[in-house]
Amino acid sequence: MAAVREFDLIARIRDRVATRGDVVLGIGDDAALLQVPDGRQLVVAMDTLNDGVHFPRATAAGDIGWKALAVNLSDLAAMGASPAWCTLSLSLPDPDAVWLDGFLDGFLALASAHDVALVGGDTTRGPLSVCVTAHGFVQPGRALRRDGARVGDDVWVTGTPGDAAAALSLLQGGGPVDPGLRERLDRPVPRVAAGMALAGIAHACIDVSDGLLADLGHICKASGVGVRVDVDALPASDALLALDAAPDARRHWQVAGGDDYELCFTADAAQRNGIVEIISRTGVAASRIGIVVEGDGVVAVDGDGRVWQPSRQGYVHFPG
Ligand code: ADP
Ligand code: MG
Repeated sequence: MAAVREFDLIARIRDRVATRGDVVLGIGDDAALLQVPDGRQLVVAMDTLNDGVHFPRATAAGDIGWKALAVNLSDLAAMGASPAWCTLSLSLPDPDAVWLDGFLDGFLALASAHDVALVGGDTTRGPLSVCVTAHGFVQPGRALRRDGARVGDDVWVTGTPGDAAAALSLLQGGGPVDPGLRERLDRPVPRVAAGMALAGIAHACIDVSDGLLADLGHICKASGVGVRVDVDALPASDALLALDAAPDARRHWQVAGGDDYELCFTADAAQRNGIVEIISRTGVAASRIGIVVEGDGVVAVDGDGRVWQPSRQGYVHFPG
């Protein structure tokens, strides 16, 4: 283990970060100074990853770094925001420079892909935990909120939910995991471009972190509507289908597994063709999976229109 002091760790981080024109002062002072563009609202998100809770103990440092930023950029995407800056609070059991370098490889690769500048943070000793805040911009009135769904809207999801949950389940079972599925668990791709394209168009949006039904439930509650989802209309990846799992297992991964970081959104049915088009231009597909109805929660139905009751809706940190 390459043990170094706290300030050396911070210097290692500072030496590698890229900057942007709107960063007046980045890492090195007591706080960062940042210039929000004229006429934009600042969008701020924070998410923490804890060892053993949000990623399996044996996860590679680079994957932890990637995912810590990805889950935050996913929250910005779900607001329709264009990402700009982030801060990083790192709690490390040991000042391990090799681990930190690996972590930064993953973190900074994703940051650079989205032109996000790491502008500050905190470095402490403790159980491995990574807390990131991400900051972005949105035009006033165009943010994608949870409370805008309207009766009659289509319900959409990007990508293929269920892959990460299947990978986790296989990992926990000790079996081999298809590398494509494993990648979906360890290196989720935040749907930043899709979220920005939907800003001002979708009526409501959320990113799927805890499970599709649970997260759709948040849209229902905030919007005062119900949603009817066809669980057999959910797009599944080839890798997921290749597992040849029982239909019920596959449905559970897809609707209740979580860790998807896909966008689930509602939009006017008149926008159908336009939605397919603008989302596909961002390199991901969008699928129509249900409709917004009067009511107050999510009802899942199967391909024959029968109500399907999952045994669990999604991941809960503090059940009961
Ligand atoms: P202070 O004691 O004033 O909070 P620190 O020693 O914690 O200062 O941090 C010094 C500088 O390094 C600050 O600009 C802070 O934002 C930055 N910094 C500390 N830890 C990190 C980190 N993990 N990632 C990015 N910047 C960090
Ligand atoms: Mg500090």
